[in-house]
Amino acid sequence: MTEKRIPKYIYELFHNTPRQGPGNLDCTAKAFNLCGELPDEPLVLDLGCGSGTQTLDLAKLCNGRIIAVDSHQAFVDKLAERVRARGLEHRISPRTGDMAAPPAPEGPFDLIWCEGAVYNVGFERGLALWRELLKPGGYVGLSESAWFRPDIPKECWEFWEETYPDIRPVEAQLEAARRGGYRVMGNFPLPKRCWWEEFYVPLQDRIQEMDRKYAGNQEAGEFLETMRHEIRIYENYSDWYGYEFYVLRRAD
Ligand code: SAH
Repeated sequence: MTEKRIPKYIYELFHNTPRQGPGNLDCTAKAFNLCGELPDEPLVLDLGCGSGTQTLDLAKLCNGRIIAVDSHQAFVDKLAERVRARGLEHRISPRTGDMAAPPAPEGPFDLIWCEGAVYNVGFERGLALWRELLKPGGYVGLSESAWFRPDIPKECWEFWEETYPDIRPVEAQLEAARRGGYRVMGNFPLPKRCWWEEFYVPLQDRIQEMDRKYAGNQEAGEFLETMRHEIRIYENYSDWYGYEFYVLRRAD
């Protein structure tokens, strides 16, 4: 999801979707397992948590405590409701705040997690800020948009120039992480089903609902068209780009 587009509609569109970005339990688990040497009860910070599907998955994968931060109050409320429904209040603390300066005085952290949200602060800036919040040898797990191939078709290139010009090839992101003081524990692309089954398919239903609700509203109609365009771009060009998951370790 990209914040640049009319927040009032984008938040409404994503309010009841299972996720606000591509991903799934298998990928969260695969990345988590690349962390290697975490304590039994790690202290975890999940940034840009949205309504918290990966937060709840992290709570299944470890016995630690998780502070989950998002800037959008309604997502934080939703996560708090999900946490209460599962009786996990002692393990997960949802908070409203900025991932650039998270409201998390409990740190330093063993692990900082950020699925599909680092674009809000920028890849390098996020890694630099979060390095200071990690214990020595602490880990970062994050997924970020990346180019998978160099021969990018014009229409695809233009879409990304408009949407998120900071998208870069995987190798450039790995290099930026190393320069930023991290060792790379592993990285892998999210499989396409993370985009379809977990993200765009539920989103398409929401787009249709909003189409009906806002019939005749030009502003809403234009917004919904940009979302359909984003989905078409992925349909046509998913060999060229996607999300890469990076697991990094603070190098000291
Ligand atoms: N991790 C979730 C959500 C990803 S969408 C998932 O994978 O489903 C990106 C999220 O970043 C949104 O929930 C948005 O509200 C949040 N966000 C945007 N700017 C932020 C900021 N400055 N600080 C914290 N969260 C932010």
